[in-house]
Amino acid sequence: MKITIIGLGSVGSAVATAVANTGLAHEIVLFDRDGVRARAAAEDLGHAAAFSYDIKITAVNNYRAIRGSEIVIIAAGANQKPGQTRTDLLHANAAVINDIVPRVMANVDSKNVKLIIVTNPLDVMVMLAQKISKLPASRVIGTGTMLDSARLRTILARQLSVSTQSINAYVLGEHGDSSMINWSSASIGGIDLNSFCRQTKISLPATTRKTIEHRVHNAAYEIIRGRGATWDGIAGAVADLVRCVVNDEKRILTVSLLDGVGDKAVAMSMPRIVGNSGVVAALCPKMSAEESAALRRSSRIIRKNFDTL
Ligand code: NAD
Repeated sequence: MKITIIGLGSVGSAVATAVANTGLAHEIVLFDRDGVRARAAAEDLGHAAAFSYDIKITAVNNYRAIRGSEIVIIAAGANQKPGQTRTDLLHANAAVINDIVPRVMANVDSKNVKLIIVTNPLDVMVMLAQKISKLPASRVIGTGTMLDSARLRTILARQLSVSTQSINAYVLGEHGDSSMINWSSASIGGIDLNSFCRQTKISLPATTRKTIEHRVHNAAYEIIRGRGATWDGIAGAVADLVRCVVNDEKRILTVSLLDGVGDKAVAMSMPRIVGNSGVVAALCPKMSAEESAALRRSSRIIRKNFDTL
C-alpha cells in the first residue's frame, strides 16, 4: 500500500518511522512545505528501513506524486508551545488544512482514500478536512482520544498491576482540555472496574480517580514542558490506526469522526469500529449522568470553535 505523510516535523517524522515499522506500506511518500526537511527525513528513514522492510521512501515537492495513495496522514501545522492550549492553534492550523486538503483531493482517488488527521485542534481539523474534501465522514478519521485513552490505560495498568492489553478504558469527547474519562464503561479482562478492584483488594477512591484524570488531561503539557513537543505517543496511535485500517481489523478505537448533520454536526471521539473502509460503526458506551453532561459540554466546545472559522 502507498501511504503519504504530510508534515515532517517532530510528529510527522515519528509517524513515518512508526508506520514504516508496521511493514504494511510498500511505499511511503513524504511531503512538507520545507522540502529540505522532507528530503532529509526520507533519507534518514530509508537508512533505517534497510534494517527492516524493503520500502520505497521518497520525499516529493509536489502533490502529483501522492497519486495512488490509499491513506494520507496529515501531521502538518503549528504545535503547542509551553503554556499554549490546542485551541490556541485553531486559526493557524485551519489555514494549513485549507492549504493541504484541496491539493490532496486533486490527486487521490476520492472513492477509496482515507484521510488520517493528526493536526490540532484535532476535532475541529477533522470537521474542516471533511468539509473541504467532501469525503464520506467515515473516511476522514482523526486520531482523536486514541492517545488520551492510551495514557489512561498506562496509568491504570501501573495502579492495578495488570497489563495495558487487559484494560478497556476510554477517554471520550474532545482531544483537548474538555475530554471526559468514561469510568462507567471501564473494565479489566471483561470485569467491570469496581468489581475488579473489590476482587483484587485494590482501592481506587474518587480522589485517586481525580488525580488520574488530572494526569491524563495534563500529559501533553508535561511532555511539552520536558521535551518541547510530543511525538512518540501519537506516532504509536497513528501506526495502530493504520494497522487497523490496512488489515481490516475491525477493532474498537476512540477515533474522532464527524457525526450528525447541519448546525449540530460535530467531530469528537467515541468508541468506533474501524476497518478497511474507514469507520464502519459508532458505539455508545454506558455513561453516568455526569459523564453524559461532560460529553455534551465537550461537543458544544468543539462546535463553537468550528463555528468561529
Ligand atoms: P512541527 O512544528 O515540528 O512540524 C510541523 C511541520 O508542518 C513542519 O515541518 C512544517 O514545515 C509543516 N507544515 C506547516 N504547514 C504546512 C503546509 N501548509 N504544508 C505542508 N507542510 C506544512 O510540529 P509537530 O510537533 O510535528 O506537530 C504537528 C501537529 O501535530 C501540530 O498541530 C500538533 O499540535 C499536532 N499533534 C497532534 C497530536 C494528536 O494527538 N492528534 C499529538 C501531538 C501533536
